[in-house]
Amino acid sequence: MRKPRDRICQHCGALIAGKAYRVTSEEEGISLLDMIVCSLCFMEAKRLHLHAEVVNVRSKEASARNRGSHRSRLGI
Ligand SMILES: [Zn+2]
Repeated sequence: MRKPRDRICQHCGALIAGKAYRVTSEEEGISLLDMIVCSLCFMEAKRLHLHAEVVNVRSKEASARNRGSHRSRLGI
């Protein structure tokens, strides 16, 4: 199983609570920048006209645990 990793902003080093953002910058097809940042740095990046987008975080919805009560009457 994978542990959910805490996201750290690769720009300012802050722990990212909530949405993470990805900032990329390309010049002539060469990737100059590709990092995950917090919302503050995201806004900063937008001010600098860098390409920035929200990172989709897959949240696990509580599905793994079946509560045992469904079996109720079909006991062995
Ligand atoms: Zn940051």
